[in-house]
Amino acid sequence: MMELSLKQFVPSEVCLKCDGCCRYKEADSIWRPKLGISDQESLADRITGNDALDPQGYVQTIQSCGKNFCQFLNGADNTCGVYAKRPFECSLYPFILSQTPEGVKVYVHLSCPYVQDHLPRADFDAHVAYLKEFFRRTEIKEFLSRNKSMFHDYSPYAPELLHLFDLSFL
Ligand code: SF4
Repeated sequence: MMELSLKQFVPSEVCLKCDGCCRYKEADSIWRPKLGISDQESLADRITGNDALDPQGYVQTIQSCGKNFCQFLNGADNTCGVYAKRPFECSLYPFILSQTPEGVKVYVHLSCPYVQDHLPRADFDAHVAYLKEFFRRTEIKEFLSRNKSMFHDYSPYAPELLHLFDLSFL
């Protein structure tokens, strides 16, 4: 991912102890990261010439222990093999962008245990305020406009989502 200086809400040490992300029940899960053009350019050395992505741009998975692991996940220590260049969606999570008929909306995924522990709390509210400012930045608007192919519709998971705000410029 291009350097966007996006602060992550969940501390790395918490993520490293959690087995919720980066592995999926279904091989074709919508929760796999979907790479836009900028992510594909950043990860070109990892995805070119193989079948790392499916035709829609989702990261392909590898089956292990009855789950479907993101192919970049190191299951031994739960680390991301492309962390410095991880896809934008991975940096943003547990916040997500969903393409709806009314435009792109920002949600938080309530299934994240850290979110469950920090909602409602001042640090959660502060991070939402930070994200609102983040998405107002000109270079972020340009980045999102260039990477519209990474947006998808999470409406089938509406009960797991809390709507926060809309990105009206998209
Ligand atoms: S790219 Fe890294 S952070 Fe994103 S799902 Fe795969 S292992 Fe997890």
